[in-house]
Amino acid sequence: MARSDRMQAAKAAYVAWQRARGVPEAAATWELMGDSKERWLAVAEAVRAAIYAELGNEHYVIFTEDRWTVEHSVECKLSGHMHECAYHDAVRLIADEYDPDRAGRWRITGIDSEGLPSLERTPDGP
Ligand SMILES: [Zn+2]
Repeated sequence: MARSDRMQAAKAAYVAWQRARGVPEAAATWELMGDSKERWLAVAEAVRAAIYAELGNEHYVIFTEDRWTVEHSVECKLSGHMHECAYHDAVRLIADEYDPDRAGRWRITGIDSEGLPSLERTPDGP
């Protein structure tokens, strides 16, 4: 996540906290905070890490006879850049032809030096 996006998330966390306290001018006071913004950046990142830990933050791909589908991570979904997902692009490189041995659900563990996905079969696939 880019620093500007992380700072926007920190501002949103600050504003939500101020609203919860009943402070109406929350958004305006953000600009006056100076170095304290870094504290809110840490708060927002801690909350984000807790959400990832709770919901999981992995990419998966499901191959069936007639199609393939990537399940994006929580971070990818929240980023606003899911359409630029490197994991999706990597899977596309191997998914042109159906391989019966590949049917099922796989965790995408990484992308190798050739841009191809590293896959690990999951026990809960079809
Ligand atoms: Zn993704």
